[in-house]
Amino acid sequence: MPILVMKFGGTSVANIERIRNVASKVKREVEAGNQVAVVVSAMSGVTNQLVDWVREVSPLSNKRQNQEYDAVVATGEQVTSGLLALVLQGMGVPARSWQGWQIPLKTNDAYGKARIEHIESGPIQDAFKAGEVAVVAGFQGIGPDGRIATLGRGGSDTSAVAIAAALQAERCDIYTDVDGVYTCDPRIVTKAKKLNKVTYEEMLEMASQGAKVLQTRSVEMAMNHKVRVQVLSSFVDQTGANLPGTLLVDEDEIMEQTRITGIAYSRDEARITLAEVPNKPGVAAAIFGPLAKADINVDMIVQNVTEDGKATDMTFTVPKADLANATKVIEDSRATLEYKKLHTDANVAKVSIIGVGMRSHAGIAQEMFKVLGEKGINIQVISTSEIKISVLIAEEYTELALRALHTAFGLDAQ
Ligand code: ADP
Ligand code: ASP
Ligand code: MG
Repeated sequence: MPILVMKFGGTSVANIERIRNVASKVKREVEAGNQVAVVVSAMSGVTNQLVDWVREVSPLSNKRQNQEYDAVVATGEQVTSGLLALVLQGMGVPARSWQGWQIPLKTNDAYGKARIEHIESGPIQDAFKAGEVAVVAGFQGIGPDGRIATLGRGGSDTSAVAIAAALQAERCDIYTDVDGVYTCDPRIVTKAKKLNKVTYEEMLEMASQGAKVLQTRSVEMAMNHKVRVQVLSSFVDQTGANLPGTLLVDEDEIMEQTRITGIAYSRDEARITLAEVPNKPGVAAAIFGPLAKADINVDMIVQNVTEDGKATDMTFTVPKADLANATKVIEDSRATLEYKKLHTDANVAKVSIIGVGMRSHAGIAQEMFKVLGEKGINIQVISTSEIKISVLIAEEYTELALRALHTAFGLDAQ
C-alpha cells in the first residue's frame, strides 16, 4: 500500500470544526487505499501565545532555559494531535497520536531550533500494519539528553518532510491556507499567480528569503532526500492525488523557463553601519568574528572604501531579533574596531527576485534596479546568488517594490 504523509498547518486545525474537516480529508485518503501519517501544527495563534509567556518569565539565555522553552511551546501540537486522533476514531478510522519522543524523532541539542538527526520508522510502520493512521505532533522531537526539543518556528513542515523521507512515502502533502505556492505572497500581491511546479532550488531560495509558506529546512530536506512535496489548501476541495497544488520538482521537469519565477520579502532583518573604520587588513574579521561568536547570523554585507583609501564604511544586516545584542557586541569591541560612528536601522525590508532562468538571461539585476529607481526607492544593500538578487530597502516601500517588480517581470495574473 502506498504511504502518504499529510501535514496540516495552524489555520487548518484552528478549531474543532476545522479538525473535523481535516479528519474527513484523511479518511478519504485512507479509503483510497493509502497508509497515512498525518503531521499537525498547533492551533493558529497558540504557539505565539506560548512563546510570549515563556519570554515574559525568562531571558532564554542558556540551554536549560531553552529546554523549558521547548517543554512549553511543544504543547500546542500535543493538543491537536490528540484531538485529531479522537475525531478520526469517532469516524471509524483507527488512529493514534504520536509525540516526538514516542516515535522517536531524534534531534541534536540546539533546543529551540533543533535539527533532526534520526527518525525511527519501525513503530509507525507497525501502526500501519495494525491498520492505524499515525497522527504525529509536528515541530517536536527529543534531544540527546532525553528532553523535548522543537525545530524552530514553522518546523512542522520539516517534521512532515522528514517523516516522509524516513517512511519512503509516495508524497508529502502540505495542506495550508493558500492553494499552492504563488509567484509572491498572495496576501500582498493580489495579482500573484499560482505555480503548478517550482524547482527545489527556487523554493529553497524563496523560503530562505522570507516566503513563509514552507520552512526553509523542509525544502532542504525534500531536496536532499528526493521527497515529492506538494503544497495545497485544506479549505478548498482539493484531493492530493490529482495534484492540484504546487509540486516541488527537479529543474528538468520544468518545460517553460521564465526569467523570474518568484519574488519574496522579509521584514525580519535590521541594518547596521559602522562608519569610518580604519581600512586595514583584518578589519572584516574583527567585525564579524565577535558577531559569529555571539551566534548572530550576518546576511547581506557591503563595504565602501573612502576615496583616499584610509577608511571604510561597513554595512550589514542581522536578524531584527538580534539587533540589540549585535549592537552591544559591536560597542564592546569599539576600542579594537576604532569606528567613528555606529548607525542602526530596524525599519528595513529585504526584497528578492528568484529564478533559475537568471542563469540564462542577462540584464536582470539592471532591470530590477531600474524598476526600483523609477519608483523612487533607494537601494541600501545588494546581495546576489546564481539564482537570486536581493536588495535592502526602507520598510515602508515593501509593498510598492513587490508590486512594481511583479508587474515589470511579467508575473501578474491576467
Ligand atoms: P501554515 O500555518 O499552514 O504552516 P503559514 O502561515 O506558515 O501556514 O504559511 C502560509 C502563508 O504563507 C500564506 O498564508 C501566505 O500568506 C504566506 N506566503 C508567503 N509567500 C508565499 C508564496 N510565495 N506563496 C504562497 N503563500 C505565501
Ligand atoms: N506551531 C509551530 C509554529 O507556530 C510550528 C508550525 O506551525 O509549523 O511555529
Ligand atoms: Mg507554516
